Amino acid sequence: MSVTEQLAIGVALVMGIWTLWRWVRPVGMVSTMAWAMVAMALNLPVALGASVLCGGLLLRFAPDALKQPLSPDAKVRHWNGLRGWTQAFFAAALAAAGVQYGLHVWQLGSGAAELARPNVVDAFLPIAAMIQLKAWLQLGLWDSHHPAGLVMLLAALGLSLTVKRAFCGWVCPMGGFGEQLYQWRKQAAKRLGLNWDARARLVQKPQWLQRTLGWTAKGLDWALRLVKYGLLLSLVNLVMNGMPAMMVARYLQGMYHQAADLKMWAMFTQPSLLIVVSLAAILILAALRRNAFCRYLCPYGAMMALVGFISPLKVRRDTAHCLREGKGMQCDKCHQACPSRIAVHQVITVQSDECNSCQRCVAACPAKGALGSRLPVVPGTLKPKQMVLLLVLFLFLLPLAFHAADLWASNTDPMMRQMLLRSLDNLPMF
Ligand code: SF4
Ligand code: SF4
Repeated sequence: MSVTEQLAIGVALVMGIWTLWRWVRPVGMVSTMAWAMVAMALNLPVALGASVLCGGLLLRFAPDALKQPLSPDAKVRHWNGLRGWTQAFFAAALAAAGVQYGLHVWQLGSGAAELARPNVVDAFLPIAAMIQLKAWLQLGLWDSHHPAGLVMLLAALGLSLTVKRAFCGWVCPMGGFGEQLYQWRKQAAKRLGLNWDARARLVQKPQWLQRTLGWTAKGLDWALRLVKYGLLLSLVNLVMNGMPAMMVARYLQGMYHQAADLKMWAMFTQPSLLIVVSLAAILILAALRRNAFCRYLCPYGAMMALVGFISPLKVRRDTAHCLREGKGMQCDKCHQACPSRIAVHQVITVQSDECNSCQRCVAACPAKGALGSRLPVVPGTLKPKQMVLLLVLFLFLLPLAFHAADLWASNTDPMMRQMLLRSLDNLPMF
């Protein structure tokens, strides 16, 4: 496992263990010992060192409030900050892996690569991961060139099966960056004194739209939301029907697949005009419209939204505690806080495919016990510490388990990768 992957796992696991210490001390103690033994058994000294350093820093510098067991009320205060830190952590971890990967490719191009390739970059090959999934399910074949891509796909699906699109709300850097871009655009407009808000133009009834197409803005929003499902359908169709099972096995052994990560890298480092224009369009859209990329275009988000329909942990409203039914007030703070504009105040259970489990509505709700991510019958509400543990479980412990089973690292020969890099533009598909 590469240095950056070990660093990310070491820091993430210590956060999980720290949470367990504050929650149930004996479990924290056992998991500390278990992690130390696993790290030594799997020869992950950097991960263990990162955990020790991070744990030491937490013990020394964390404010007292962080060292005490979490109180039940802590949930509301902590949600937004916790999500921000989590997104920043994932973005930093991916950026570090990207830098290491860039150096690796550079070394590969100028001779032998000394720096290891972080396997986590395979997570940026979603089509390859879908083909791998098909090969695994239909042929029992585990790809040996980019296995980490399939592991990360399984991790994202597992997380979505448990807590809807939490991957979008808590992990994906695109979601976090898009949100930041939107906020910057709003602040800039305010500072410049521009009374211009994309929401006012796109969400309120635009007369030109009704005149020319006969559509309301809500209808347009619905139509645009279907675009991501259309993209997902085309990808699934490509994988399921465009490539018969026997061809899949040949494809996974082919040079094109072996060089998939190098081709992806080249696409972003030497972009064509089409890629530059597409990226610029996505960024502009994200700045104008909150969550636009996730809401309208991301096929990965569409897949997790579909899986999330059957996830048991959903935002549920308890009308006995809600200020609306309970006290007859006109509260809609949960709706106002929701980045996906879901009418949380009007439903009992948020079923919407656009809910990314960000918990902003929960944090905004002033009534104790009125709102939270809950299971259908079991009492209790999802706590921040439980969300941290779910993220650690799916996105770090699961890959670690695959690493332990020798199903994580690519076994493409470095000499072969060097040769592939030299002939990237002329690789046969099969
Ligand atoms: S309903 Fe709540 S958890 Fe879901 S997206 Fe809206 S604010 Fe986030
Ligand atoms: S913010 Fe809370 S109290 Fe207000 S409508 Fe939503 S669930 Fe009810």
